[in-house]
Amino acid sequence: MSERVTDRSGWVALAGTYRHFPALAGNSSTDWLVIGGGFTGLAAARRLAELHPNDRIMLIDRKRLGQGASGRNSGFAVAREMPGPAEIRHQKDRAVYLANAAIHQAAGAEVKRLVSELGIDCDYDSGGYIFAVRERAKFQALEERARMINDLGGEARVLDHEALKARLGIGFYNHGLWLGGGNALLQPAKFAKGLIDTLPPQIECFENTEALRIESAAGGGVVVHLPDGQVKARRVIVGLNAFMPRLGLKRDRVFPISLTASLTRPLTEEEENAIRKAAPWGGLCPVEGGATVRLTADRRILMRNTAEYEPDGISEAMLAKRKAWHEMGLRHRFPFLGKDAIEFTWSGHMAASRNWTFVFEQVSPGLYAAGCYNGAGVARGTLLGRLMAEHASGERSPLVETALGLDKPSWVPTGSLFTWIAKVRLAHELHQARSEH
Ligand SMILES: Cc1cc2nc3c(=O)[nH]c(=O)nc-3n(C[C@H](O)[C@H](O)[C@H](O)COP(=O)(O)OP(=O)(O)OC[C@H]3O[C@@H](n4cnc5c(N)ncnc54)[C@H](O)[C@@H]3O)c2cc1C
Repeated sequence: MSERVTDRSGWVALAGTYRHFPALAGNSSTDWLVIGGGFTGLAAARRLAELHPNDRIMLIDRKRLGQGASGRNSGFAVAREMPGPAEIRHQKDRAVYLANAAIHQAAGAEVKRLVSELGIDCDYDSGGYIFAVRERAKFQALEERARMINDLGGEARVLDHEALKARLGIGFYNHGLWLGGGNALLQPAKFAKGLIDTLPPQIECFENTEALRIESAAGGGVVVHLPDGQVKARRVIVGLNAFMPRLGLKRDRVFPISLTASLTRPLTEEEENAIRKAAPWGGLCPVEGGATVRLTADRRILMRNTAEYEPDGISEAMLAKRKAWHEMGLRHRFPFLGKDAIEFTWSGHMAASRNWTFVFEQVSPGLYAAGCYNGAGVARGTLLGRLMAEHASGERSPLVETALGLDKPSWVPTGSLFTWIAKVRLAHELHQARSEH
């Protein structure tokens, strides 16, 4: 992945002023070093401070805290995944779904707890969100999915064209499934900024401080090399998500996917009338390659309809093309929006694994990693960062045990073979889902 992503997230731009932290230079030693200042790293550092009030805790990020994927995502805080047809029909897949459900629900609850306890103003909306399509064939087993969720104590409701139109204010979608039960929407950069603003003072934060290499230290502990010095830590927690492979971690398990999104200016009074002043909503597509759309609390529209394997990042020229795709998606849904409604366009990296599972493990003595949430890291990262701090501290709990016991990401080839497979696969998914762009 190159450094070509220079675009700025609309969420970040609208979140207000961020605290600045210095870069770290020279040689230091610490009890704990957390690498990566996204949801995972922020949660890990916070929990370490609670568990070890007298320890030295350092947190570094190669750019700005909270402004990587954590400040660039679509803001769906997932507490209940929608089961797929296999999870409905096959006992083995259902067992995996159920095993993961405990983590998902705890993750959704953790976001809610932090927002409330820390008083974070991030437009948190616990009203759930909607999976919706135009083409019925793109939503397999719609009713069975709703039934399974409700049977498991969740909240789901099938919506037809009229119900969708009444709720969303647009007639684009024909079949939908509302999913509540802890699922929430938020302004992700405001959430991340709130977590940064409330970090305990014990945590020493450093920005523009890139970890270049991690190695075991002679005599115990871990040494992390920086551009201008090194840190020797008793223990290191890595919250690098899509950047893990770059530091040589999980290279044959985790891969980055580039997503791009746009946010419009606020709707005009006329446009508000056109959608009958619908309350804020979030819409996802049940098939890979479909679009994510939101009507935000501040009355803008978020559009994301690309997912690509571009390990070198998205250049400015590529971003301009993706923006045109977003404009197309907006035209399909909100034909009354004039040209030039988009105010921000940006890209970001999510991490994925072949079998849709996350990384949560001790990698080597003193080195721990959590990440790769397959596009659902707002809640999962927030929980698993905390759980990783507990695990690395030797704390045991049912949730830590559950996280350790789940399937690990499966093997993927590396190099040009993988590049070819991933590009073809993702391009195919985008093509298959074109009616849903
Ligand atoms: C456009 C988009 C839409 C998404 N939508 C959603 C959604 O709606 N819901 C959802 O749950 N998830 C979504 N995701 C995924 C979600 O953003 C991530 O799962 C989540 O941010 C992961 O948090 P994290 O802290 O593990 O990683 P990140 O947020 O990626 O943080 C990792 C941090 O590590 C830093 N870093 C990288 N390399 C180094 C290094 N060498 N040294 C030091 N620091 C380094 C980065 O600068 C970054 O700040 C989306 C992602 C994108 C890009």
